[in-house]
Amino acid sequence: MKKKLNAGGVAMLVDLDACTGCYGCEAACRETHRYGYEEDWMRVIRRDPFYVDGKLRQYHLVAPVLDKCAACVENDPAPLCMTGCPAAALIVGRFEDVVKQAASRHCAIFTA
Ligand code: SF4
Ligand code: SF4
Repeated sequence: MKKKLNAGGVAMLVDLDACTGCYGCEAACRETHRYGYEEDWMRVIRRDPFYVDGKLRQYHLVAPVLDKCAACVENDPAPLCMTGCPAAALIVGRFEDVVKQAASRHCAIFTA
């Protein structure tokens, strides 16, 4: 029997070293679900470069609406936001699966 996901069971990982802030996942989400521009299910947040401990860094973030992602991943375990990411920086799925991908990555994980 297919186990249902709920928003509490889904997670999204973004690899901070890999993400270029290209907006591809944001566009892929909108293209997949065809919601209007008055809605946001996924946003890319580009950040300016900054210094940490004397080293120049630039990390971008994503802001998913995870209850939407839970329903989306239940329908398609390989959504276009993830498979279309040119940097292979995005992973979305069950929390227990996503968290295993965090080892040895400089990443952020979002959970509901
Ligand atoms: S996660 Fe991937 S698709 Fe999304 S902004 Fe970063 S590099 Fe682009
Ligand atoms: S998992 Fe689905 S709903 Fe969530 S950002 Fe990706 S395409 Fe959009």
